[in-house]
Amino acid sequence: MELLKGKDNVEKAKSLEVAEEAREESWKYPSFVGDMFGGRMRWDILFPYPEQGDADKKIGDEFLARLEKFLRTNLDPDAVDRTGIIPDPVMKGLAELGCFGMKIPKEYGGLELSQINYNRAVGLVASYCGSTAVLLSAHQSIGVPQPLKFLGTPEQKKKYLPLFAKGAISAFALTEPDAGSDPAKMAATATPIENGDTYLINGEKLWCTNGNIADVLIVMAKTPPKIVNGKEKTQITAFIVEKGMPGFEVVHRCMFMGLKGIQNGLIRFTNVKVPKENIIGGLGRGLKIALVTLNIGRLTVPAACAAMARKSLVIVREWSKKRVQWGQPVGYHEAITAKISLMTATTFAMDSMTWFCSALVDQAKVDIRLEAAMAKLFCTEAAWRIADDTVQIRGGRGYETADSLKGRGEEPIAAERFLRDTRINLIIEGTSEIMHLFIAREAMDPHLRRILPILSSKTGFPEKMKKLFEAGFYYTSWYPSQWIYLDRWKGSAGVSSRLKRHIRFIEKMSHRLARGLFHAMVKHQQGLEKRQQILFRFVNIGTDLFAMAAACSRAASLTVRNPQDRGPEELADLFCHEATFRIQREFKSQRQNNDKMIYGIGRKMLEGKYRWLETGIIR
Ligand SMILES: Cc1cc2nc3c(=O)[nH]c(=O)nc-3n(C[C@H](O)[C@H](O)[C@H](O)COP(=O)(O)OP(=O)(O)OC[C@H]3O[C@@H](n4cnc5c(N)ncnc54)[C@H](O)[C@@H]3O)c2cc1C
Repeated sequence: MELLKGKDNVEKAKSLEVAEEAREESWKYPSFVGDMFGGRMRWDILFPYPEQGDADKKIGDEFLARLEKFLRTNLDPDAVDRTGIIPDPVMKGLAELGCFGMKIPKEYGGLELSQINYNRAVGLVASYCGSTAVLLSAHQSIGVPQPLKFLGTPEQKKKYLPLFAKGAISAFALTEPDAGSDPAKMAATATPIENGDTYLINGEKLWCTNGNIADVLIVMAKTPPKIVNGKEKTQITAFIVEKGMPGFEVVHRCMFMGLKGIQNGLIRFTNVKVPKENIIGGLGRGLKIALVTLNIGRLTVPAACAAMARKSLVIVREWSKKRVQWGQPVGYHEAITAKISLMTATTFAMDSMTWFCSALVDQAKVDIRLEAAMAKLFCTEAAWRIADDTVQIRGGRGYETADSLKGRGEEPIAAERFLRDTRINLIIEGTSEIMHLFIAREAMDPHLRRILPILSSKTGFPEKMKKLFEAGFYYTSWYPSQWIYLDRWKGSAGVSSRLKRHIRFIEKMSHRLARGLFHAMVKHQQGLEKRQQILFRFVNIGTDLFAMAAACSRAASLTVRNPQDRGPEELADLFCHEATFRIQREFKSQRQNNDKMIYGIGRKMLEGKYRWLETGIIR
């Protein structure tokens, strides 16, 4: 047992090392959320809300109109769900519309849509057919075009980007049967041969979306380790692999609870020869590329979730006014009205986070890695609850398939398909748990940068003293400042007293969050990394604060444009009131909780101490 523990620890240390190596260390641009965790509110980043410019909106409106017309005329999403196939004419039509080149620069034949327009397009498709949305998003958000745009050589761009613009499909292959959230467990190898001019890829990749139909894939594989200070460092490298390369094989098409039309496979590579020119970003930079790509790429997930939430609002509004039970429309029974109310306010917050992040990507002046992760975390969980509430509000019809409803003459509303399709969003492109850990790591980063060199045995004595002095100097001014509430809010057009209250609360809570995180680091030191219940609560608080801030900013902006309509302000106000309750509850739980008991019982359960409970079932 002890031996096993020792082996586990070595493996864990390796996993952490690989994750740390892949981290983007520098912060080239300011970060709203990064500063918020340090108790500094950068209201100037959030206000005024970064709205889409008129010219860009016009481009998006025109493209979306063409896309919507095409989808309505040519694609039956329930047939895709039933048959598991997105028909060839649809694939061809999407290619003709330029959908596989939405993010590709015009010089390579693409549409070069802004991030906002791209996210609007994926959202539009997601509100209709989840499988088709994932086909487009896996191709462009994480597939070959995005990393090539960032890090590709001119030759790689010239060779591949025009193909995608014409409709070639790409995929991203990182996950393996034994390597999910933890890429250090990757087994696929790329062995250099012919003096390093060529690499031989061997291994398997699991759940590769579009993998079965992709023309070109980005494949992560281990290249020989680098020796740094006498120690082996794992190297994961990104390769461009073409489906025609001998040794490339789709072994199995995976099927899921939802997204029935996606072509997702188990892929095998047997001595696939790939020229060194197909390496993206250099040897050993594969995971870094994956993470940088995902920082922006994962934004299509909240965009799709927000669109599905907007679609759900249409479903519940129309249905709950029409369906009469117990003498009145079901929507007027308070329990259902309350659900609808919270769904509406939450959808407003989801939209506010999504469009804020998308606009900032286009402006390229702010680091949005934390905001995008929070938008992904918040919107995927919210969309799942909204899809669940939509099924509940539709009653038995919510559980019935669209085909069945149609078969007996009712409107084919696919609430159950939305529920099935949306569940995966909490797992792909960083599970909710991994998003929490990612955000927590970045939130602690400013402190770790100051403290770790002092604790490290590798730091020499003079350097240690210097770092100690610097940290002491910093904390003697930073820490007291977190107890003083200074109203840094300079005001912004459209912010009424109703919203101002929330902005003051956010500012106060940012100090409390910064202090809390600091106290937890001092108290638990290295042990904090394992105290996920504590860390997750900090992340939940931070995420709700960001959601509140985005909702207030967007409400103010919409109010300025249309002062007669107080709707946005009402929705932001309700969302903020609800988020305030959650935040207060989370802070209280940091002091008073059952963490130890919960953890203890979970461990005992895993060890089989409660097997007596597992009776009366068919195993
Ligand atoms: C439909 C679908 C499409 C996909 N598309 C792609 C694709 O295109 N390309 C690709 O490479 N992959 C793809 N994936 C894989 C997906 O990214 C992984 O499923 C995801 O990364 C999680 O890995 P896993 O399923 O192996 O879960 P695991 O890593 O085994 O995790 C299991 C559970 O443990 C939790 N967990 C793991 N580590 C920790 C930790 N340190 N602390 C707390 N909790 C933890 C996880 O959050 C999860 O809840 C797809 C998967 C599916 C189902």
